[in-house]
Amino acid sequence: MLYNKFNLGFFPTPLHKLKKLSNKHPNYNLFIKRDDHTGLASGGNKTRKLEYLIKQALDENCDTIITAGAQQSNHCRQTAAACAMANLECHLLLGGKRPEVYEGNLLLSSILGANIHFTAKNRKGEDIETLKNILDKQGKRCYVIPYGGSDIIGAMGFVNAVRELKEQLTAQQLKIDYIFFASSSGGMQAGLTLGKEIYTLHSELIPISIDKDETKGVSLEKVVLDIINDGFKKFKIDKKIQISEINLNRDYDKDGYGVVTENERNAIFELARNEGILLDPVYTGRAFYGMLDFLKKEKLPPNSNVLFWHTGGLPAMFTSANQLK
Ligand SMILES: *Cc1c(COP(=O)(O)O)cnc(C)c1O
Repeated sequence: MLYNKFNLGFFPTPLHKLKKLSNKHPNYNLFIKRDDHTGLASGGNKTRKLEYLIKQALDENCDTIITAGAQQSNHCRQTAAACAMANLECHLLLGGKRPEVYEGNLLLSSILGANIHFTAKNRKGEDIETLKNILDKQGKRCYVIPYGGSDIIGAMGFVNAVRELKEQLTAQQLKIDYIFFASSSGGMQAGLTLGKEIYTLHSELIPISIDKDETKGVSLEKVVLDIINDGFKKFKIDKKIQISEINLNRDYDKDGYGVVTENERNAIFELARNEGILLDPVYTGRAFYGMLDFLKKEKLPPNSNVLFWHTGGLPAMFTSANQLK
């Protein structure tokens, strides 16, 4: 049923209990799924999407990949690594202007051999078509991966992730009631939603919005909606949903993309100092804060089994913009 993929990572990623934090929150059992350990040049959730996207590019006989993101894009860093493995030329369009010193993901993308273009205020792929026209004229066969790898092909990675999760839950004789994760370009949320339908997973998804800005004038809810309905068509599921049915928690994105407040900082320290697990300052720090806030305010029924899906992002910790200490 699923598309073919090009293997890029180590799967299944570990699923385990957060023992100390569960003791600190006696009403809940807390678990974590470790997509920070997918293995692709320090890992992250984009590895799952790229397995399907890179396969598609190779099937279409492309020799060049173009994608885009913020200067500290985890998606772009993992795309650069995937291109190295698949022997594809990689072009990244990154927001901001060329810094004197490369740090974090930007440094890694450069080490991984990507061609890096800086695009000022455009950090969501606004300039992809312009670059594609130039590269087309040079005779390159370009495959465009949209912002965040979020289309139906990339989302397949998370349809497949639900299958993987279900196998782990069966093996561990575990039922998960709620799944928290950071949602930002929408592919993960759409893929998990489709996977829930296809593999009948009963856990409720609680996607935490990380970025309040729209993508080329389109809301995240609409991006997720379109990918889900696209998926229903592809899988011949006789269903179409409305935008009002997209559940996205917007309580924690008000400070803006990439802004680290006391909230993210405290969440990062809490997981690091209780479980020895590192979150990232942009995505997982914010989503984990959201989950802790739900627990503190007792928004979930007592005795719930709650899973945090760690989506990676650690390289962004190693930038001088971070004042975490
Ligand atoms: C991209 C990313 C996300 C969000 O996934 P989307 O599919 O873009 O919504 C979450 N966490 C990290 C670390 C990411 O790099």
